[in-house]
Amino acid sequence: NKRIKIKALLQTEQTGEEVTVMGWVRTFRNNQFIALNDGSTNNNLQVVVELGLLDEATLKRITTSASLKVTGEVVASVGKGQKVELKAKAVEILGDCDAEKYPLQPKKHSLEFLREIAHLRFRTNTFGAVFRIRHSLAFAVHKFFNDKGFVYLHTPIITASDAEGAGEMFRVSTLPFDNPPRTEAGAIDFTEDFFGKSTNLTVSGQLEGELGATAFSEIYTFGPTFRAENSNTTRHLAEFWMIEPEMAFCDIEDNMNLAEEFIQYLISYAMEHNADDLAFLDQRLAEEEKQKPQAERSEFGLLEKLRFVTGNKFERITYTEAIQILLDSPAYKKKKFKYEVGWGIDMQSEHERYLVEKHFKKPVIVTNYPAAIKAFYMRLNDGCEPGRETVAAMDILAPGIGEIVGGSQREERLQKLEDRMKAMHIPVEEMSWYLDTRRFGTVPHAGFGLGFERMVQFVTGMTNIRDVIPFARTPKNCEF
Ligand code: ATP
Ligand code: MG
Ligand code: MG
Ligand code: MG
Repeated sequence: NKRIKIKALLQTEQTGEEVTVMGWVRTFRNNQFIALNDGSTNNNLQVVVELGLLDEATLKRITTSASLKVTGEVVASVGKGQKVELKAKAVEILGDCDAEKYPLQPKKHSLEFLREIAHLRFRTNTFGAVFRIRHSLAFAVHKFFNDKGFVYLHTPIITASDAEGAGEMFRVSTLPFDNPPRTEAGAIDFTEDFFGKSTNLTVSGQLEGELGATAFSEIYTFGPTFRAENSNTTRHLAEFWMIEPEMAFCDIEDNMNLAEEFIQYLISYAMEHNADDLAFLDQRLAEEEKQKPQAERSEFGLLEKLRFVTGNKFERITYTEAIQILLDSPAYKKKKFKYEVGWGIDMQSEHERYLVEKHFKKPVIVTNYPAAIKAFYMRLNDGCEPGRETVAAMDILAPGIGEIVGGSQREERLQKLEDRMKAMHIPVEEMSWYLDTRRFGTVPHAGFGLGFERMVQFVTGMTNIRDVIPFARTPKNCEF
């Protein structure tokens, strides 16, 4: 018998065929109607069990989350919402489920509760939708770059370099926990380690990506990234996935255009391939908004927001303009911001969200940040006022999230790069491999990093980043 996934079955027009489906029971009504789900869609298949097909003992075992194999005939459905249903000819119980012990009930659970039973949450409609969308977006990432002729480059997870210089690295070591070898000065002696030096988990594949770009012209990485940040926010994880394209013969302008096109492509892809799941999340969010007091409700629904973002250009402003807008804002004047605002100070998420949600009401690309608050590899802008040096950086800020992309044109001029590294106390000799890209046929090049989970948050409307990654790693949270 032909085994078929429920999503495909529900789309069929053809009745009379005999098929086999496998899945988990969501509900069982009147000893007759099984709502069966196999994770391919949130829409359950109605399985009709006619009187007399199964004995009393078997009927009792059809409980929520028991797993079944059902063979039957595809028949037209008289019920609303589905074209076809399955008239069962044989029902086999593959695995029983003790309804008393099963923590998920056929009702809506809070996200907080579901986070506590994160190992089972894939079985809910909300997380089914979120993770199918996440899957689609990951697929779309590869499709987008492959269609453009970019090479997918795998950059290392274990690395000796700290691309961001932010000191947020997880150490990797094979040295014994107790009594590791020490140098004469008493520090742990990493030369005795498997790697012969102090190594860490990557915080970004960019520097290695630049090596690829200066050979293949255009590459992208898409892999796990690690940051030991002790921040308990709704936008930070200790382990997250980042997409980092890097392009030779590319300036900051091309870089912004590509990033904008990429974000719009990903959203369009999900809207085309995950229409059902997005409609479900849109509805879910609308219900949640209704619970809030009028003043706190968001102006747009999820689908409205996504449609708007794909159909409109992002706003582009300089950092200097952004700071001016913030200083002129009613929020600043009424002292509503928790963190300081001023030229030379990094913007916090509250400032970024003010710009996108209150001021422009659309995604915003901020360029030309002060050199002092950005990484060493970003290209120094020519002709800056002394004391007001800026770099060709660009951050994309999204409504509901804040920073979603960080990128820049890279400093391709060897001397300027070395000077900046020295000024920032970055060991130039150790990074000689990196500087070779500038020594041997240097070219203007640029790239950006898109936080994949923040993108998934944006598309699904989930407010907490822990709810868009299958297994969240946050401070003090590593149960499995
Ligand atoms: P933030 O200011 O939000 O801490 P960042 O400026 O430190 O971000 P970048 O080094 O610019 O981050 O990394 C590029 C992108 O990776 C960010 O724009 C964001 O989308 C994502 N990102 C950074 N840190 C995290 C994290 N801890 N968890 C999830 N995504 C992250
Ligand atoms: Mg950070
Ligand atoms: Mg930032
Ligand atoms: Mg950044």
